[in-house]
Amino acid sequence: MKNIIFLAPPAAGKGTLSEMLVEKYGYGHISTGDLLREEIKNKTEIGKQAESLMKEGKFVSDEVIIELISNRITKSDCENGYILDGFPRTLNQALKYDELLDRLGKELGVVIYINIDKEVAMKRACSRITCPKCGRIYNKYSNEMKPKKDGMCDDCNVPLTQRADDSEETFIKRFDEYVNKTMPLYDYYKNKGVLKVIEAHESKFETFNDAVKIIED
Ligand code: ADP
Repeated sequence: MKNIIFLAPPAAGKGTLSEMLVEKYGYGHISTGDLLREEIKNKTEIGKQAESLMKEGKFVSDEVIIELISNRITKSDCENGYILDGFPRTLNQALKYDELLDRLGKELGVVIYINIDKEVAMKRACSRITCPKCGRIYNKYSNEMKPKKDGMCDDCNVPLTQRADDSEETFIKRFDEYVNKTMPLYDYYKNKGVLKVIEAHESKFETFNDAVKIIED
């Protein structure tokens, strides 16, 4: 299976789409946001550094992220292919990642850009809730994505929580950080000839079908 990099603004649906593709194809799923939130939960050195930056909508340092990624892509669940959800997010990370792939003899695969309007993404972020136990993503205002029982995870039956960085104020900062630092990757991967673009449709199934077409091409 071709490895996948999702390139997209915050709340475009990378996490949801990744979950669906993992289920269909058995990819390893690497979400740098989830890895960082895990470090925060476990109160590690990395977690302590990351917590305030993430709350302010700023990026965590490239060194920390590269270390997390190199430890993660060599795990056995990534052997047959993996999805990078939230990495690389800066040009420097992309360059370091190319070096890492060379060292490990792995292929870059395909880069899928998910296109979404800022206003739509903001609405999604502010109504996103997740299960603290299994990580499943829900959305209060989407018929398709709301939990069966208000505020509770369908599978774990525990209360759903909102991410600390999903407030309107932090979202705007995250979006600006994305435009300044992540958008240059669009051209970087386009020039390499590995970039594909899909739309963040209102229905996650429509977006999923577009991604499947690219993967099975
Ligand atoms: P979303 O799914 O909304 O895009 P993520 O969960 O991927 O958000 O990321 C949340 C936050 O974690 C980011 O705003 C940033 O502070 C930090 N982060 C995640 N991935 C990276 C990365 N590759 N480089 C730097 N910071 C990152």
